[in-house]
Amino acid sequence: MSLSIPFDNTYARLPDGFYARQAPVPVAEPTLIAFNAPLARDLNIAGADDPDLAPIFAGNQVPEGAEPLAQLYAGHQFGQFNPQLGDGRAVLLGEVTDRQGTRRDIQLKGSGRTPFSRMGDGRAWLGPVLREYVLSEAMHALGVPTTRALAAVRTGESVLREVPLPGAVLTRVATSHIRVGTFQVFAARRDAGALRALFDYTVARHYPGARDPSDLLGAVVERQAKLVAQWMALGFIHGVMNTDNCTLSGETIDYGPCAFMDAYAPDTVFSSIDRYGRYGYAAQADIIVWNMAQLATALVPLMPDETEAIDTFTRQIHAMPDLIRAEWLSRFAAKLGITAPHADDARLIADLLDLMHAGGSDFTNTFRGLADGTARDQIADRGGFDAWQARWRPRLKDEADPEAVMRTANPAFIPRNHRIEEMIAAAVEGDDAPFHRLNAVLADPYSDQPDAADLRRPPSRDEVVTATFCG
Ligand code: AMP
Ligand code: MG
Ligand code: MG
Repeated sequence: MSLSIPFDNTYARLPDGFYARQAPVPVAEPTLIAFNAPLARDLNIAGADDPDLAPIFAGNQVPEGAEPLAQLYAGHQFGQFNPQLGDGRAVLLGEVTDRQGTRRDIQLKGSGRTPFSRMGDGRAWLGPVLREYVLSEAMHALGVPTTRALAAVRTGESVLREVPLPGAVLTRVATSHIRVGTFQVFAARRDAGALRALFDYTVARHYPGARDPSDLLGAVVERQAKLVAQWMALGFIHGVMNTDNCTLSGETIDYGPCAFMDAYAPDTVFSSIDRYGRYGYAAQADIIVWNMAQLATALVPLMPDETEAIDTFTRQIHAMPDLIRAEWLSRFAAKLGITAPHADDARLIADLLDLMHAGGSDFTNTFRGLADGTARDQIADRGGFDAWQARWRPRLKDEADPEAVMRTANPAFIPRNHRIEEMIAAAVEGDDAPFHRLNAVLADPYSDQPDAADLRRPPSRDEVVTATFCG
């Protein structure tokens, strides 16, 4: 049976200025690397056994009902406003309604030049495509709101990134691709009509209960506060929290230079372009507030009274750090087996983190070890850990099943950087087995999976990856 995607497109009905119609640019020789059949079923896509999936997910064959377009947006990149970015190497094919009734975008990334490509080649190389595939699917399995990966193909072409590298295309699925930067582009252009249309569209699609821009801001602030707390509880570092990589839906988007940290250190930075640590691990809690302030600024023209709008929005933004702290507390308390945290549990959590930081403990294995009884082995200061444990244990006496709480808050498996790099190196040589194995293991990150114990091991000294790159 041939592939059938039940497109029902709404973004393409928005005014012309929202996008440029742009077909994907065909590639030389598409071959399928992966197709996410369970996700396809969830998206009501039929014919997943079609032998010719590669030409479709490479962009060589535009499926029936698709209306490919490149979306316009702006964004602050490392704090610097760029008034026009837009999809420079991606096209939205269209939207489908999933089995839960949620509208989802289907986008090709790496599909060639668009009117927004500027100096770029519109392409992606295999490394970042596979990294995004594995990381976004792992994040989903970890329980984090995120874009998904539907397919990955090799293009049979090479892409020049200092050296020639194999090209690839990722098919990304998102509840939408509306970004803070989408609001910013129309606010910067003082296009009140477009801003209003975007507001109405976003509310209808994501927050049907929101009556005005302040409701929308509040709802996005809440989702982003939860999201960043979840990232931090997993040791995830996004790496490029520019406002164009910050969604209105509250999903994680843009797996460029992102990484999970091994040894715990709050100032950890992987991204090679993040020279000042703007987007480091702990900084994420501050930067998301800054990003929400940029959204608020873009929403001001939608309010009847500017002074009042600034007043209201300022209060909402100033309340966000407390929201994040509360989310952080509840996520990290669960990591200790505590379901109903008190304010003073923050001290208990911070003291464990300090012990971990002092000895460079592995973040994932230490927390997982709390339920397994192996956490002490991860901490250099054993006496310090014993003293900490003497405070922690009694705190759990009112908990019905703290071990179960810990096992669902502390994964056994994360996509470790050195494994991702190793997987990419193998795929460049034509061996996709490590990619498929990582996907399979990371689909169930909270179970022990003894056969995959090697994937729980932190990097040895010569395996440590110190930098990640945008693709
Ligand atoms: P990112 O850093 O991935 O969020 O991308 C920032 C902007 O650069 C977006 O407008 C991208 O579409 C664009 N971009 C990134 N890489 C390329 C590329 N290879 N070709 C064209 N545009 C790109
Ligand atoms: Mg981006
Ligand atoms: Mg990117």
